[in-house]
Amino acid sequence: MTESIPHWLTKQADINPDGISVEMQNGKKLTFSELKDNSQRFARKLAEIGVSKGMHVGILSTNNLMMITAIHALSYLDAVGVLLNTRLTTEEINYQLENAEVTHLLTASQLNEEEKAAFNAEKIFSFSEIEAYEEKEVMLSTELDLNATFTIIYTSGTTGFPKGVVHTYGNHWWSAIGSALNLGLDKQDKWLIPLPVFHVSGLSTLIKSVIYGMPVYLLEKFDEQTVHEAIMTKKISIVSVVTVMVQRLMDLLGENRYPKTLRCMLLGGGPAPKSLLEKAKNKQIPVFQSYGMTETASQIVTLSPKDALEKVGSAGKALFPAQLKIVNQDETNVGEIQVKGPMVTKGYYKNEAANEASIQDGWLATGDLGYLDDEGFLYVVDRRKDLIISGGENIYPSEIESVLTAMEQVKEVGVTGKKDAQWGAVPVAFIVKNSEVTSEEILAFAEKRLAKYKLPKEIHFVDALPRNAANKLVRNKLIN
Ligand code: ATP
Ligand code: MG
Repeated sequence: MTESIPHWLTKQADINPDGISVEMQNGKKLTFSELKDNSQRFARKLAEIGVSKGMHVGILSTNNLMMITAIHALSYLDAVGVLLNTRLTTEEINYQLENAEVTHLLTASQLNEEEKAAFNAEKIFSFSEIEAYEEKEVMLSTELDLNATFTIIYTSGTTGFPKGVVHTYGNHWWSAIGSALNLGLDKQDKWLIPLPVFHVSGLSTLIKSVIYGMPVYLLEKFDEQTVHEAIMTKKISIVSVVTVMVQRLMDLLGENRYPKTLRCMLLGGGPAPKSLLEKAKNKQIPVFQSYGMTETASQIVTLSPKDALEKVGSAGKALFPAQLKIVNQDETNVGEIQVKGPMVTKGYYKNEAANEASIQDGWLATGDLGYLDDEGFLYVVDRRKDLIISGGENIYPSEIESVLTAMEQVKEVGVTGKKDAQWGAVPVAFIVKNSEVTSEEILAFAEKRLAKYKLPKEIHFVDALPRNAANKLVRNKLIN
């Protein structure tokens, strides 16, 4: 059955033509009407180079207006956008290009023949090369089929090989609606995106912009000074952030306060230490914890404004159109988080093994561990693969990391399990220092806050922690 809605950008350009859709840091702005015209023009040029319905088109770009135009252009041709992380190596990109069966690759930068030859795509064009083409006379879509695929984005590859997550228009539509039903819509809203659009959080906000008729303020890359200034002077009402950004922004804020215009700092992507959340609360920063993954087309669980202050540390409840359950609980009620809802992917591209292992009757097994409190609020504990079982006790690395990052002398911490003849496995910590500190001082700090069996048995000081292209800690690469 096809279920169609009017093309979202055409619709918004019709009802709100002069509204600002995207504003860039350099002052460049596009109204919805301009974004629609540019995207349709670009779609006709893409048609000229051979892009048509159902084709998979790779996009390799950092945040900029051409990239946004290209993404919407694909929707006018019913083609599929495969969004690639620019921080990946050529080899990693080639895997994704091949796995996703990409025929055309679009790049922000101008590549020479040798650079083009390094990529596994039949045809490669820079955005400006496409601009130089004529427009082909083709019928552009006037409707979007909610069951049709719009994008494929690979998971970050934190626990294994990245998997290609297929998102339909319906997944994106329901993600935007679910978020609006929780955060509410305000005529004054302006959403700041300091995160890459090739991740689902950035992309989903661009789609929200078109569905809500809301301006986004798009940064080319994260830079705490620019984010700080934008919040202070650009009437930003919502900003999407990850944990490290919150820390750096708080340092910049010092004793000051953000303007009242900022109503939500939406935090996602990974665990957040309780000490950080408490600190933000004391500074009256409206941090909303959220939980989600590429597979759920952005957040699927978020703390609502009314609970944000009471439930610090919780990721909240499942958004209105979604469900959540915890399965295989242990005696402390911790078990695997499963989610279901219209924003959840129907599956990974060409990966039957992963689909069979993680999706059943619409329920997605997330691979994350968590528990619900007696009022049904979710607390995410850790990834199942990172769990350390020591002498029969479960130890969650993120709990130890959260405790140790509260030490002033500690900048970053990674904890992993190490094989141990007596206990099976024991936790060991890898520390990047802020300032001078000894293992003894760290252990003394930890002893007051953690049960004995959770204390790291080794502490290693390192210059940097192993991170993937999404800047996430890869615990299985922690070695000394
Ligand atoms: P891969 O699936 O390839 O191993 P990944 O899971 O890191 O990579 P993403 O989809 O980018 O890929 O990340 C989603 C994951 O991030 C979640 O499954 C969860 O482990 C983690 N995460 C997201 N939000 C939170 C949160 N609030 N607290 C703890 N962890 C979170
Ligand atoms: Mg994952």
